[in-house]
Amino acid sequence: MEDCIFCRIANREVGSEIVDERPNAIAFKDINPKAPVHILVIPKEHIASLDDLGRDECEVLRDIFSLASDIAVSEGIAQSGYRVVLNIGEEAGQEVDHLHFHLLGGRFMEWPPG
Ligand code: AMP
Ligand code: ZN
Repeated sequence: MEDCIFCRIANREVGSEIVDERPNAIAFKDINPKAPVHILVIPKEHIASLDDLGRDECEVLRDIFSLASDIAVSEGIAQSGYRVVLNIGEEAGQEVDHLHFHLLGGRFMEWPPG
């Protein structure tokens, strides 16, 4: 998608702090971090939301979650704990229509989220 900012980041058409990648997923630092560690993990292909994820896209999900787990280790938050958040739709606060998982850590998290 030409006008999708996360597609452009995945294609390296716009600058971002890329942390790591897999064949089907890429991770980069959130531009407006909400925690000491705040990294976004996205599919490289444009998938607008969870509702648009095909039922057989196991490889995409495997790459996303293995990437998130490995980055939690490399960022030093695997032991202390971290959160993986997916906002879907307006009431959940989804602002960018390209599926993205927030990897948050490095501080104490409240529950439930606001
Ligand atoms: P959401 O509200 O779940 O859609 O989250 C969108 C996230 O994308 C927010 O945390 C933004 O700070 C982040 N964001 C938006 N544009 C960029 C960008 N160009 N580079 C990195 N993060 C971004
Ligand atoms: Zn996109």
